[in-house]
Amino acid sequence: MTPVVLCIGGMDSSGGAGLLRDAASVATAGARTRVAVTAVTAQSDARVRAVSPVAPELVVAQIASALETRVDAVKLGMLVDAPTVAAVAGVLPQVPLVLDPVLASSSGRVLLDPPGVAALIEALLPRTEVLTPNLPELSAFGACFGISGEPEIVRALQGAGCRWVLVKGGHADGQGCEDRLYGPDGPDGAIERIHGPRHPSTLRGTGCQLASAIAAGRALGLTVPEAVRRARRLLEARFIAEGRRDEA
Ligand code: PLP
Repeated sequence: MTPVVLCIGGMDSSGGAGLLRDAASVATAGARTRVAVTAVTAQSDARVRAVSPVAPELVVAQIASALETRVDAVKLGMLVDAPTVAAVAGVLPQVPLVLDPVLASSSGRVLLDPPGVAALIEALLPRTEVLTPNLPELSAFGACFGISGEPEIVRALQGAGCRWVLVKGGHADGQGCEDRLYGPDGPDGAIERIHGPRHPSTLRGTGCQLASAIAAGRALGLTVPEAVRRARRLLEARFIAEGRRDEA
């Protein structure tokens, strides 16, 4: 039977990011998707016009419906606010959980408010197998803990309960992009460095795609490092395919 990933997050009306990107990514990675919509957004690639949270009871009902049949992994994206975080945390199944901490859009709109970030740290990190912050998100977590420095922040995140942390280096200066996967032994253990090309900032939804593909890999039975490497390769494949499409 094809494994199933439950994606919990927001609808991006532009189709660039959010649940539509998640579903495409999960399908490409070889699994099936169920969704629970946390918010409806009106946005283009350039800006977010409006955000309307879905009532937490309806989010819970969607998750309950998904769980009427088997779910093999969960991917969490945009969670809007603390009530939604608390509602989701209360009904998560005991399967591998990949959390993409969607704090803001590339255009700068806040997609999880500060009480929501605090709730995420307290209620969701203890349940998280893989957390996938980019560098601005890592700094935002650092600000919550009152610390700076990548190893220190990773240590604090793992202290709060998540097992693996994939720091995405796409926002760093330089030619290529280095992602760093910190294992359950923390920043003092082995760190896998994954190198790839830098994607143009016009390529939207790369974070959603990567986290969903990692969740699909876990649903298919891969280990976390295998799932991360495969998700990275699938992202490169989209990068190449969309580059070709733009040229055509
Ligand atoms: N909108 C939704 C619903 C999202 O889930 C995300 C990211 O996960 C975004 C917008 C932001 O995407 P981007 O960083 O590509 O602008």
